[in-house]
Amino acid sequence: MDTLESVIKAHIRTYGPMTIETFMGIVLGHPKLGYYITRDPLGVGGDFTTAPEISQLFGEMIGLCLADAWLRAGCPPFHLVELGPGRGTLMADLLRGTKNIAGFHEKMRLHLVETSPALRAKQEALLEGYKPTWHSDDNTLPEDAPLFIIANEFFDALPIRQIAMLNHKAVERTVGLDENGALTYGLTDAPPSLLSRRLDDGEIIEVSPLREAVMEKLSRRITTQGGIFLIIDYGEDSPKFGGDTFQAVHKHGYCNPLEHIGHADLTSHVDFYRLRSIARQYGCDTQGAVTQAAFLEGLGIRARAAMLQDDQIDSGLERLVDPRSMGVLFKVMAASFGFSPAVPDNHA
Ligand code: SAH
Repeated sequence: MDTLESVIKAHIRTYGPMTIETFMGIVLGHPKLGYYITRDPLGVGGDFTTAPEISQLFGEMIGLCLADAWLRAGCPPFHLVELGPGRGTLMADLLRGTKNIAGFHEKMRLHLVETSPALRAKQEALLEGYKPTWHSDDNTLPEDAPLFIIANEFFDALPIRQIAMLNHKAVERTVGLDENGALTYGLTDAPPSLLSRRLDDGEIIEVSPLREAVMEKLSRRITTQGGIFLIIDYGEDSPKFGGDTFQAVHKHGYCNPLEHIGHADLTSHVDFYRLRSIARQYGCDTQGAVTQAAFLEGLGIRARAAMLQDDQIDSGLERLVDPRSMGVLFKVMAASFGFSPAVPDNHA
C-alpha cells in the first residue's frame, strides 16, 4: 500500500514543488491516509493534548459564556455548532454543565463539523443522546436560526502559505525533492496578491486563504442569522503578526514537519488580527482577542474549581490559565450579532 510520503513525492514528481498549503492539506486531510482521517491524535497515547482533554472546566466555562448570552437575548431556538470537535469532550462538558438551564437543551439543535471518520466515531459514542447532525464542512449548516459556533484548536489545523521578502523579492516557501529524492524546502516567486502587507527584507508572513474563507462565510452567516462565533486557539492579535510558526508535533514533542509524514500533527499560529478584521468587514461585532486566562477567569473558573474541591481539577485549572502553560499563548475572540458574549473586550 502507498504511504502518505510516497503519495506526496509522486505528486511533486508530477506537478513540481508544492506550496505549504498543499502539503498540509494532503498530510492532514488525504481521504485515505491523512493524519486526521486515520486516527484519534489526542491524549496521552497520541501526539498532543487540548484544553478540553485537560479539564472539564474548559467546556463548562464555554457553556456558561454561551448560555449567559442566550438568556440575555430572550432564550431563542438556536443551533449549537462545533468545528473540529475532536473526541467530543468539550461538547459533552458544555452540555452537562448547561443541563439545568431551563430551555437551553430544548431550544438547541446540535451540529458537528468533522472530516475524520475516526473522530466522528468517538463523538458519536459520547454525544449520541443529543442526536447531533454531522457535516463535512460549514456549507450545509442550517439557515433557519441563530448559530452558536465553537472552534477550539480548529483554525490552527487549516493550511497556510508562507511568504518571505528575500533580497527585496517576494518568494513563497515550497516543499520539493532534493537530488537524493528526499523532501526538502524550496522557494518560488510569490503571487503578489498574497502580500497582505508590506514586508521588510528578511521578513516572513503566513497567510491562510482557507481560514479566511471559513471566517468570511461564517461571519456572513452570523450577521444574517444572528449568533456567536467563539474562536480559541494559539496565536496573536497584532497587525504585525509574522514569523515562521509552521510546526509539527509527534508524541507530544516538536519535530521537523518534513519527517514522520502523516504521523505528526501540522499546525501554525492563528492570526487573530486578520480574523477580527474579516468579522468586522462582514458587519459582526467582535470581542477580544483576549488571553485564555483572562477569558476563563472572567467567567469565574476559579470559583467553579473551588466548588469541586479536587486536586486534579486544581492542576487542570493551572494548566489552562498559567501564563507559562496555555494561559497567554492561547487567545479567545468572538464574532457576534444580536448576542453579546461575556468576553472581556480589551485586546490581548
Ligand atoms: N477541538 C478539539 C480537537 C482539536 S484537533 C479539541 O479541542 O480537543 C482538530 C480537529 O479539527 C479534529 O477534530 C480534526 O479532525 C478536525 N479538522 C481538521 N481539519 C478539518 C477540516 N478541514 N474540516 C473539519 N474538521 C477538521
